[in-house]
Amino acid sequence: MKTEPQRLRHFASDNYAGICPEAWAALAEANVGHSVSYGEDQWTAKAADALREIFETDCEVFFVFNGTAANSLSLASLGQSYHSVLCHELAHVETDECGAPEFFSNGMKVLLLPGANGKIDPAAIERTVTRRTDIHFPKPCAVSVTNATEVGTVYTPDEVKAISVKVKQSGLKLHMDGARFANAVASLNVKPKEITWQAGVDVLCFGGSKNGLPLGEAVVFFNHALAHEFDFRCKQAGQLASKMRFLAAPWLGMFQTGAWLRHAAHANAMAQALADLLKAIPEAKILFPRQANSVFVELPAYVIVALRQAGWKFYTFIGQGGCRLMCAWDTQPEDVQAFIADLKRLLVEAPKDAALSADHRKL
Ligand SMILES: *Cc1c(COP(=O)(O)O)cnc(C)c1O
Repeated sequence: MKTEPQRLRHFASDNYAGICPEAWAALAEANVGHSVSYGEDQWTAKAADALREIFETDCEVFFVFNGTAANSLSLASLGQSYHSVLCHELAHVETDECGAPEFFSNGMKVLLLPGANGKIDPAAIERTVTRRTDIHFPKPCAVSVTNATEVGTVYTPDEVKAISVKVKQSGLKLHMDGARFANAVASLNVKPKEITWQAGVDVLCFGGSKNGLPLGEAVVFFNHALAHEFDFRCKQAGQLASKMRFLAAPWLGMFQTGAWLRHAAHANAMAQALADLLKAIPEAKILFPRQANSVFVELPAYVIVALRQAGWKFYTFIGQGGCRLMCAWDTQPEDVQAFIADLKRLLVEAPKDAALSADHRKL
């Protein structure tokens, strides 16, 4: 059997990366003696306070295991089973959560909106809300935006506000999937409040896993009323960690050291380096503006196959196709250089065999 070259790091996903040192240290610090369970411990209280400091406002904070749960449960708390949630057609809640938002809301329907570069066109909100208001149509209750988006672009504060205007005009709530929220903040160089509550966001799912935590996301309600009984919702969904301190402490480590922004800025910079080098390769066509920690690039199929045979892992099924090259907190300039060197070499050397190219979509 042919063995693949071993690589330390890949460009498949920022959730391929390990735990960053700051989160690891915080975990170790929390691992002393006994502590109160189910979130009544000092680590959970301090991490929630740290989030309130980061957002410069009093918000309600809950820690859950993953992003699918964070999105599904927070969306479920924005309406009733007969409601609908509007999101971009490439949104994770639509394409990558196995129907969990519909399941946890007991039937809310996800309705899809168009928009360039993975961002919702605000006019589409109004069109969808006003097109049908009769009793046969699932009544819209919320809009969900993803920042940074699934295709690596970023909504500016003004873009979030423009959506928020339409959302509030229609009496809806605004949800933000922030699986890569840190990357968006680092990219925009804004205060976290500027793209959340000040821009009209009611609830944010703040991603930890992709930022360097072992696991976990924070659900942050800026609109307090919407957090009503959210703790029960989490418990029923199997999202209340008994040893909550290990879910919470890493967040504290990230905020106390500033690592959350530092790592995000680093991942963004690595993606920029990749994009710069790819731009100089005629066969590589960059698909979206590089604004966060990923680059989407179209490459000839034979080279995709050859890169994978050379041991590189990356996705080709996300967004509108193309290769998604995702950088993480630990991506190194050497990784970028090694990938580009292999790409340039294989563009010349790899067999341009059509049969081989047929399965270029396999990871
Ligand atoms: C990764 C990701 C999530 C969370 O996914 P889980 O695997 O459930 O943690 C949510 N939204 C977006 C846009 C993501 O990329």
